[in-house]
Amino acid sequence: MAEYKLLIDGKLVDGAAVMDVLNPATEEVLARCPRASTEQLDEAVAAARAAFPAWSRTSIAERRALILKFADNIEVHAEELARLLTQEQGKPLSEAGAEIGYSVAFIRQLASYDLPVQVLEDNDTRRVELHRRPLGVVGAIIPWNFPVLIVAFKLPFALLAGNTLVIKPAPTTPLSTLRLGELMAGIFPAGVVNIITDQNDLGAQLTTHPGIAKISFTGSTETGRKVMASAAASIKRLTLELGGNDAAIVLADADPVKVAPGIFSGAFMNAGQICLAIKRVYAHSDIYDALCAELARLAEEAVVDDGLKQGAQIGPLQNKAQYEKVKALIEEARADGTIIAGGRPLDRPGYFVRPTIVRDITDGTRLVDEEQFGPVLPMIRFDDPEDALTRANSSDMGLGGSIWSADRNAAHELATRMEAGTVWMNKHLDFGPTMPFGGAKQSGFGVEFAQEGLHEFTQVHVINEAKA
Ligand code: NAD
Repeated sequence: MAEYKLLIDGKLVDGAAVMDVLNPATEEVLARCPRASTEQLDEAVAAARAAFPAWSRTSIAERRALILKFADNIEVHAEELARLLTQEQGKPLSEAGAEIGYSVAFIRQLASYDLPVQVLEDNDTRRVELHRRPLGVVGAIIPWNFPVLIVAFKLPFALLAGNTLVIKPAPTTPLSTLRLGELMAGIFPAGVVNIITDQNDLGAQLTTHPGIAKISFTGSTETGRKVMASAAASIKRLTLELGGNDAAIVLADADPVKVAPGIFSGAFMNAGQICLAIKRVYAHSDIYDALCAELARLAEEAVVDDGLKQGAQIGPLQNKAQYEKVKALIEEARADGTIIAGGRPLDRPGYFVRPTIVRDITDGTRLVDEEQFGPVLPMIRFDDPEDALTRANSSDMGLGGSIWSADRNAAHELATRMEAGTVWMNKHLDFGPTMPFGGAKQSGFGVEFAQEGLHEFTQVHVINEAKA
């Protein structure tokens, strides 16, 4: 079994304890992993604080060069990382390979941004400059659905702006993040990046730690609420990327056969465990039956298997708690609607659930109103697009959404009124480092990526000079 280490103050060290990490496709122990103690968390924060003065004084070009070196090292180890990711997270090897590839691409592109001094005024009486300073130590808290990609979302901008980092992966997917720690250990100066692991017990301590200036959090809305409350004591900066309940609205003129594959992959990629996945479909009565039938066909055809198996399209759910939650939602949906595909776990070890399509269901049921975060898709019928939009917008969540139609103007008009951080037309789940990404309402606040995302890792600093 491979050995894993924490990264604290530039050293790869054992944890105070060990914990088992399971392979969700087999429920067998994949590896034993170090578990950090509160003292090790304090050491990690102290190391990051000690590294901050020198690191923040380096030029942005120097920091960029090291971030790019890290991206190169991930690329060299891409195959090995993808395999590890499949084994601990469950996603098919093709999706794991894509996650590593996107991670390299995100790191490279995010590293290309800059923080030039902006001259706001320069006249006879004054010269006013806007500088952007780093904040200090950033705590990055990562969920279990994209343990490598979400590190790649946070690390480049945090470091480029001159901050130092303490990263904490989710307890069920720490291995690939720890492997990233080994790949970066010789690249960044000691203490600039630290990685600790836990059993859901250190996140709260990170968010209250007086030595941390900002928390960049990705996870559930429920935990986000706790993060926000505990960050209040020391007025920490926050970026909260939380849950979603993305609606896809399919208008009467959409061709069901043409749109079904995009809706299917938007809902079932990573076994539906994506914040921005399609989590409810509102389909016009004219095409409702045809679209339900087409999605059911795709669901029945999908190959559900261990992600390491050639041809697997949908892997297991990532952990037992999520598996139990999804199975309970399916049982409830049996009473609230009609299951036309899937609807059952696989009779084998592992947390496998066949992609499930539920029709004749409507708002006011748990499957529609809550974030299922799994391979179960409710299909809701509508007659009036205004009514569909009202229902889509009635959620407390507002991460993403999509409008599917052959009429660009009609789709665009609805898109402008959808309450979400990102709205797509005739697609879903397309995002990238140049587009600010963030949630509306209880899907969080703040953004990642693009210039706006970089600014979130900085403090505004105005220098206002009198002129004679
Ligand atoms: P989660 O909220 O349970 O855990 C996320 C992280 O927070 C983990 O590292 C966990 O250990 C840590 N944590 C737990 N308790 C904490 C506390 N009190 N204080 C601080 N940290 C704590 O989420 P999850 O189940 O790992 O991930 C699934 C959720 O994440 C879904 O709701 C999904 O929509 C959301 N998500 C959002 C985005 C986005 O960008 N908006 C991306 C991916 C996932």
